[in-house]
Amino acid sequence: MPTPPKPNDEPTPKKDVQQLHRDPWFIWLLPIVFLFYYSLSHLDRSEVKVIPYSEFIQALGQDQIKSVDIRGLTLKGSYQGGGQSSRFSTQLPDFIGDDFLKHLEKRAVEIRVQPNQNPVWVQLLAGFIPWLIIIALFVLFSRSLQSRMGGGVLNFSKSKARRFEKTEGGPTYDDVAGLEGAKRDLSDIIDYMKDPQRFQALGAQIPKGVLMMGAPGTGKTLLAKATAAEAGVPFFSITGSEFIELYVGVGASRVRDMFQTARKDAPALIFIDEIDSVGRARGTGLGGGNDEREQTLNQILAEMDGFEPEDVVVVLAATNRPDVLDPALLRPGRFDRKVVLDLPDKAARVSIFKVHTRKTPLAEEVDLQELAAMSVGFSGADIHNLVNEASLRAARDRRAEVTREDFQIARDKVLMGEERPNLLNPNERSRIACHEAGHGLVTYYSEYTDPLQKISIVPRGRALGVTEQRPSEDRHNLDESYLRDRLRIFMGGRCAEKLLYNTASSGAADDLKQATKLARQMVVNWGMSSAIGPLGFSEGENHPFLGRELTEPKPYSEALAEKVDAEVQRLLIKAEQEASSLLQQHRSQLDTLIAALLEHESLEKDAIEHCLKSNR
Ligand code: ADP
Ligand code: ZN
Repeated sequence: MPTPPKPNDEPTPKKDVQQLHRDPWFIWLLPIVFLFYYSLSHLDRSEVKVIPYSEFIQALGQDQIKSVDIRGLTLKGSYQGGGQSSRFSTQLPDFIGDDFLKHLEKRAVEIRVQPNQNPVWVQLLAGFIPWLIIIALFVLFSRSLQSRMGGGVLNFSKSKARRFEKTEGGPTYDDVAGLEGAKRDLSDIIDYMKDPQRFQALGAQIPKGVLMMGAPGTGKTLLAKATAAEAGVPFFSITGSEFIELYVGVGASRVRDMFQTARKDAPALIFIDEIDSVGRARGTGLGGGNDEREQTLNQILAEMDGFEPEDVVVVLAATNRPDVLDPALLRPGRFDRKVVLDLPDKAARVSIFKVHTRKTPLAEEVDLQELAAMSVGFSGADIHNLVNEASLRAARDRRAEVTREDFQIARDKVLMGEERPNLLNPNERSRIACHEAGHGLVTYYSEYTDPLQKISIVPRGRALGVTEQRPSEDRHNLDESYLRDRLRIFMGGRCAEKLLYNTASSGAADDLKQATKLARQMVVNWGMSSAIGPLGFSEGENHPFLGRELTEPKPYSEALAEKVDAEVQRLLIKAEQEASSLLQQHRSQLDTLIAALLEHESLEKDAIEHCLKSNR
């Protein structure tokens, strides 16, 4: 039974413990068992009494000795009479000579003389076998370690940075769409790496480190590779989490090693992905295991501080959590230049589609503008994925071209996961249709919201149904009336269920959660409640060091807290009432929409409008 940890145990570096447990630790037991067995087998198993030489001579004189067995100066023998305790052994003095043997002969003792020692090779073998086994096991063990760590056991501190030679023809700036600002920011770094002397002659300070900030999939890695390719320098890349490995101290020595290699190959570009995993503000974070991280971070800082002017090495680091970074990383001479990679806007999405459909045969009706319009909020990686899914679909159907429909279906898949058509029983299906029709109808009658795009009751991913709106453009700033409409739309599904079935269902749980969160933000962060007034707190924002919300003491008084709760509740109840009365008012349209959904399962914008207009 595992012993529960003592409460005041040192916090263990969790990762290390887990990894060690995965090792076949028991192989260390094998040599021990072997040695144990080995030494046992060299003991005479029957009981042997060790006696002094004098006692032996005395026994010999009394004719008590039956036989002797002489090996070098060790004499083993047995007394007359046999039995368990009849065996003895003694050590002969080293001046014993032929007389001794004659003496034994006279007494009619059975004499066996063995060669002084085993032949040399037997001795050597016997001495070496346990070592051989230990060495073999060690090699085996280190192999398994090696395969996990991608290096030999003796050089596991070597950096894992992969080297991409300039000749490897990786992506160039032509393959990076949009991101014009970021490219511009990096252009003088490219110039510098191409011709460092020009800059050095003028004493120009070139940033040693550039921090690329952007959501996952916005092209940070791509841009780093392309920058190296544009400058024609070798590219070394490593992921922050790779620094931290099985053994303490490995991270720091990996850093040292990587910088050394890059310096040797200068001009060179080092790319550190996910720098936040080592670069979190020091002294923060929960639990143990931080020493290793801090050591690694310190080593990175030390290396960057130690750049000589002739070391033409630029470090690009990527993160999607710039808020958690240790301020020391951002100090002058380190990552003092920042490049922001935004999610692509519509124009950028068009050009990303262009890049990724360069080699895709597109059907004539495919319009990249339209594709961009229907992929609001997609990252470059999402678009890449979408194009790939669409091509896969066309290939499966053995078509030569990728059609508009392929893209539409691929988009839903990328956005919401694979369809799961047979998930629902008929009762559930009608209930979902009612719920989605409720969202849909409230959306239809909401003035300030994005237009309806699609309603579907085909379950996919985790959602049982969806009502989808298409923002006419990307929104960066949210208007109060827009938000109130949103609250109402969240309530629409639940209200429709209550209207038709008289009860709510658990299907609206997520709607309620989102609505509550939004209402709270409106009250607490954005000053959108007249009862509270123009106060803004940072409540509800992510905790900077953990990437998630923590239950912190509220930054306002209990009295205000009560008011806030009441305001949030008031907003939500009002939204529910509005949604409910809208649905009652347009009850027959709700019924038509439900029927249409049950029949067609999924309705696009035009079909929805047709259906609603035919029944006013
Ligand atoms: P990040 O490192 O920011 O998570 P990546 O650079 O790994 O994102 O992007 C993943 C993939 O997404 C790229 O290989 C590329 O195919 C595609 N991609 C992302 N951004 C762009 C872009 N701006 N232009 C073209 N392709 C992009
Ligand atoms: Zn819903």
